Amino acid sequence: MPPASLSSIKITFLGTASAQPSSTRNHSALALQLGGDVWLFDCGEATQHQLQKSTVKMGKIQKIFITHTHGDHIFGILPLLASRLNGAGGTVEGVADPRAKASTSQDPTDVIEIYGTTGTRAYIRNGLSYTYTLLGSPYVVHELRFPSDPQSGDMTTMTRHTSELPSGRNIIQENGVWPDIFSDDLITVSAAPILHSVPCVGFVVNEKPIPGKIDPAKYKPDLIRTKTPMSVLRRLQLGESITLSDGTVLDGPPRRPGRKIVILGDTYDPSPILPLAEDAVLLIHEATNAHLPGIDTATKSDDTYESIETRTKSRGHSTPQMAGRFATRIRAKRLILNHFSARYAGDDDVNEESRKTMTAIESLAQGEFAGEVICARDLMSVDIEVPR
Ligand SMILES: [Zn+2]
Ligand SMILES: [Zn+2]
Repeated sequence: MPPASLSSIKITFLGTASAQPSSTRNHSALALQLGGDVWLFDCGEATQHQLQKSTVKMGKIQKIFITHTHGDHIFGILPLLASRLNGAGGTVEGVADPRAKASTSQDPTDVIEIYGTTGTRAYIRNGLSYTYTLLGSPYVVHELRFPSDPQSGDMTTMTRHTSELPSGRNIIQENGVWPDIFSDDLITVSAAPILHSVPCVGFVVNEKPIPGKIDPAKYKPDLIRTKTPMSVLRRLQLGESITLSDGTVLDGPPRRPGRKIVILGDTYDPSPILPLAEDAVLLIHEATNAHLPGIDTATKSDDTYESIETRTKSRGHSTPQMAGRFATRIRAKRLILNHFSARYAGDDDVNEESRKTMTAIESLAQGEFAGEVICARDLMSVDIEVPR
């Protein structure tokens, strides 16, 4: 029987700050909750603290995708692995330090899979090794190699950490993208370069075609005539064909496209991901800086939208308008902005001043995009529905 669809897809923003975190925004990380599984996208400093404040269960994290190796996107991965894989521990009174025997009692079925740009493997291997961190379960790192990167090797002479599996792949680009870096019965993940100040990628999470909508009235006369139990409607709904006792063949409704979610890292131009990103139900795009005269008191008198856009781009980032324009180009249904300058406080649910700023940022993006725009704040959760 073809697979059913995922019961739910939900995103929880764990950190929405750019370079500097603030009391209201942590560094970049978001959790994609697929039914009961959790995949993290980026893992800035203190992501594990944010997890503790959220409803996302750390123990459910199975995969971590890193968009680029800038610290604000990866500094949190070592402590998170230590906690998630029961490594760092610490001594409990009267009990030996669990780190002492962690490496000999690994649970081989609980593997964390990490995908990142070149250097992710070396960073994790060196970080864990130099801090004498042993883990209770293994991990593996797959790297997305740009054409200008070495196409093989580990980018470090340090030998593998005792918990690092040797099966980490170096994934080579095909036609400018990395198609299907992960795939199972329900979902595929692809990646593509996006332009930033350092090698950076965006990820496209694509639910495989899901069961179509069934109209039971269309099938009932045939089922009644042949005394077929109505329970076959469930099989038809999943797209199966059923042969009735009199030879009549009933075909279920054709499957329809699943949900496509595009999660970008930092960028001043994500065009290279366009062929993979079209018709997304959700685009998550950074909006580091905005021109907000009269609202942002730091606005200088000679600042114009153009000067802010030029400055923002020169640092590898985007404005809300740039995000809105890209959402329009890919015909996205919904746009969520993240990775905000520390100037834009993330307490807009309780603070009037912050609400004004974030509403203004939203409307700048909205000026370029007809779909729904949301400014993310830390610990905000969003359900991703199947489009009607
Ligand atoms: Zn960043
Ligand atoms: Zn960056």
